Amino acid sequence: MNSNELFEKSKKIVPGGVHSPVRSFSSVGGTPVFFKSASGAKLISVEDKTYIDYCLSFGPLIFGHRHPEIQEVVEETINTAWSFGACEPYSLSLAEFITSNIPWVNKIRFVNSGTEAVMSALRVARAKTGRSKILKFDGCYHGHLDSLLVKAGSGLAGESSSDSLGIGTEMIQNTLVLPLDDEESLENLFQTFGEQIACVIIEPLPANFGLLVQRKSYLEKIYKLCRKYQTLLIFDEVISGFRVGFGGMAEFLNIQPDLVCYGKIIGGGFPVGAYAGSAELMDLVAPSGPVYQAGTLSANPIGMRAGLKTLQKLKIENPYPALERKTKDFTAKLTELINEYDSVEWEAVCFGSLFWLKEKTSKEIHSITEIPKNHKSQFAKIFHKLLNNGIYLAPSGYEVGFLSTAHTDNILADTLDLAKKSLRE
Ligand SMILES: *Cc1c(COP(=O)(O)O)cnc(C)c1O
Repeated sequence: MNSNELFEKSKKIVPGGVHSPVRSFSSVGGTPVFFKSASGAKLISVEDKTYIDYCLSFGPLIFGHRHPEIQEVVEETINTAWSFGACEPYSLSLAEFITSNIPWVNKIRFVNSGTEAVMSALRVARAKTGRSKILKFDGCYHGHLDSLLVKAGSGLAGESSSDSLGIGTEMIQNTLVLPLDDEESLENLFQTFGEQIACVIIEPLPANFGLLVQRKSYLEKIYKLCRKYQTLLIFDEVISGFRVGFGGMAEFLNIQPDLVCYGKIIGGGFPVGAYAGSAELMDLVAPSGPVYQAGTLSANPIGMRAGLKTLQKLKIENPYPALERKTKDFTAKLTELINEYDSVEWEAVCFGSLFWLKEKTSKEIHSITEIPKNHKSQFAKIFHKLLNNGIYLAPSGYEVGFLSTAHTDNILADTLDLAKKSLRE
């Protein structure tokens, strides 16, 4: 069966035909491609067409698909055990590697997704402070837990409304929401509610609504207000952790959060999440403390060992400077090509090996209100042109793209040749 036939069949038995919404191409139109295998920087569709992958499973695959060294430990693990539901040494090795390499992380708990990590970190923050309210920002995504599937309400600053049906109003009334990059609203909100706010949760590099790089002074302001009001600061580094550098944005900014959430890269391509922080905070978690959190498949040996191998390679090989250079250079050339053919002028926002293609704006943008209004439809056009000739970007103009170490200079040059051909057609 081809992708079209598979999608038609899938829609009959799976909501929207997919197991996660963005995969459905609903944002760009058309029918999603079904893939049957992957290797390095490339995907193979069920039609046997090859695509160069710039979505990379939305971030986990910093060494590309099935890196041979990671595959080797996965195969070894499959021949050892699949799951114990009991104590084992593999998660200890990963925990030890992370805690010994990230100074502000003393204790860590593994879960199965980024969503779970965030949900658990909020619980710890509420337990520690005895407060109920949390503060998040419009333009940050933290997974699909009820209390964070909210956006700014239309009324007072800080007021929230739900971003999904099925969420009881009581679930969101303690979630305050602010726009990013607005220090005045932030100060005002803390003046009113500061002593009731258990924690502020933020993506220190917001990368789920385009790439909204924040001013360092703004993030420092958040940190200072948190200290002043004894509110905990949670960095959601599910995307940025181990991606922008081994120590993520916390290291880059030199701002120490109280709790950090990881996902994506930490499992080397397998479902792993984690939340971590000081021993004092993490000891609140069961069984050492009163905050309950558990998981049947948590610290699954396959994810633990794939994650450890990935992190070890990142630490030893330090691919970050080269990835950053390649990403800047490649996206500059790609947007140059697009600009030769499109009536709209494009640019790439880059940070490390993350990139976001958007219409050129007169200044850097830091919040969702500044995203050009026709961005979605402009992106859809470019997306389909590139897809036609085998370039796979994340199927939404609000998702970022990624490079991996498997994107060699040759593959990047091939991509540009394909893009040129696509855009001419
Ligand atoms: C992907 C992501 C999540 C959710 O992780 P899942 O594993 O999809 O549950 C949470 N926060 C951020 C910043 C993410 O990018």
